[in-house]
Amino acid sequence: MADTSTVARAVDRLFRIAEGDELRSLTGLAEALARYRGRPLVIHEGPDLPDRIFGQWVRHPDYDEVKYGRWVHARERTIAHELGHIVLGHVGKPAIELAREVLPPERHDLAALMLQRDCDDTKSPEEADAEAFGNLLLHRLNGGSRINRSPGLRSRLDEAFG
Ligand SMILES: [Zn+2]
Repeated sequence: MADTSTVARAVDRLFRIAEGDELRSLTGLAEALARYRGRPLVIHEGPDLPDRIFGQWVRHPDYDEVKYGRWVHARERTIAHELGHIVLGHVGKPAIELAREVLPPERHDLAALMLQRDCDDTKSPEEADAEAFGNLLLHRLNGGSRINRSPGLRSRLDEAFG
């Protein structure tokens, strides 16, 4: 697990990338990240996700896809968690890149499958880091501890992703 400052710096980085209105919402921050990476980022409900998987990041060749489970109530938290995996660079393992290079084009769907990150409640270091990132990001987005406890803002966020 990365130390706290690494995660905090990653959240900082995302807030520095974002401009204007992007700084005001989670979707705005996601758009800023997509712009920075030069890759579209699509966020939507994933009705096909297995029950134990609350979120998923699929790294397609030309865009990123983030899905949350149909049953997930804390959608913004799930999305923030997945953004954490992206910002913290939790893929790009040499073995995966290599697989893509050696696989024939017709099997690149297999490479995409290998680039898929399924998020469940296992306590792997990367899961813990993404969770810490998501919590910190939402905390900061909501204006710190005072506003974070406001039920009004939470429900507005829920509506935005509802
Ligand atoms: Zn995760």
